[in-house]
Amino acid sequence: MMLDNEILKYIEDHREEAIALLVELAQIPAPSNAEEKRAAFCKEWLEKCGAEGVYVDEALNVIYPVGCEKEKPLAVFMAHSDVVFPDTDPLPLKVEDGWIHCPGVGDDTGNVVALMMAAKYVAENRLQSRDWGILLVINSGEEGLGNLKGSRRIFSEFGSRVKEFVTFDLSYRRLYDRSVGSRRFLVELSTQGGHSWNDFGRKNAIACLADVIHDLYRIPVPQGKGKTTFNVGTVSGGTSVNTIAQQVQMLYEFRSEDRACLDTMQEKFDAILNAHRKDGVEILCTKVGDRPCSGEVDPVAQAALADRAEAAAVKYVGLTPVRGAASTDCNVPLSLGIPSVCIGCLDGVGEHTREEKVKIDSVVPGLKICFDLVLHHFDGKSVH
Ligand SMILES: [Zn+2]
Repeated sequence: MMLDNEILKYIEDHREEAIALLVELAQIPAPSNAEEKRAAFCKEWLEKCGAEGVYVDEALNVIYPVGCEKEKPLAVFMAHSDVVFPDTDPLPLKVEDGWIHCPGVGDDTGNVVALMMAAKYVAENRLQSRDWGILLVINSGEEGLGNLKGSRRIFSEFGSRVKEFVTFDLSYRRLYDRSVGSRRFLVELSTQGGHSWNDFGRKNAIACLADVIHDLYRIPVPQGKGKTTFNVGTVSGGTSVNTIAQQVQMLYEFRSEDRACLDTMQEKFDAILNAHRKDGVEILCTKVGDRPCSGEVDPVAQAALADRAEAAAVKYVGLTPVRGAASTDCNVPLSLGIPSVCIGCLDGVGEHTREEKVKIDSVVPGLKICFDLVLHHFDGKSVH
């Protein structure tokens, strides 16, 4: 169904409610893998709105299924509850000069609020879809350490029944219709070590890791479909200034839009680690993150979904979002060949910083984008 004047008026009439909900929800702490408080709040809020069958799964996803019981194809709409901040106390929030300031307010709390308001509209009007089952999901674990836990859980439960996937994330200025896959590793290197004066000449773990890093940075970036990158993110270790280091560790990642390029990077990375495992040097490598690349997605269906999301932004905000590739909850469905898109329902700045803020005047146009996409598969309002 299309957004008619009645729905647009509903959105305008609920502006203050949406802002109040954002102010309340943004303060509830929700580090990745510890989203319990937000999950409980959202479930109770949806139930108060009359949503039936809402449940929280093992991954802490809050799921509101609408008409999913039969063997209909499923359309999934998500926004993630977790934030990158480890706070377990209420997050600091202030409203000032037309902005709401709070860590995590735009990534992704404002989008969660848009999805909740759309869910409320669906519940209050008992909307149904003849042809589709709709899953509205406030999902967990999108950020770094969450490793897409919530999205993975949805696809392990509903799998190939899902024919379309939209996640609301970040700003409406950007639209992600391609995914960036990545693999992340903790590399721990150890040697005998010793006294810097008495044992001079023994191998030093830090110097050995420096050699490893030197070689990693000489890997030619594979030329495939799209961009490939790599990075050493942190290095730590050693004992003291007068100790030949026994132990050192680093976090390393590589990313690509192309599966084959990720595999090439993996081979070269493994070969370099193996080449340095000699003469008393031990290297342990633990995978700490694995986000899949896109699989074979029907290009026509994918383009149609991305165009629909773009059209909503153009219609209600008056700007064309910039298209790109990113690591989002879309990685999981795209890897399974399911058409997927990520778009935001707000205007904000400073995501992943404690200075993050969202423009209050972007809330209503953002709601319109969200309603437009979520209500797409629903039949017109039934009289009741
Ligand atoms: Zn996000």
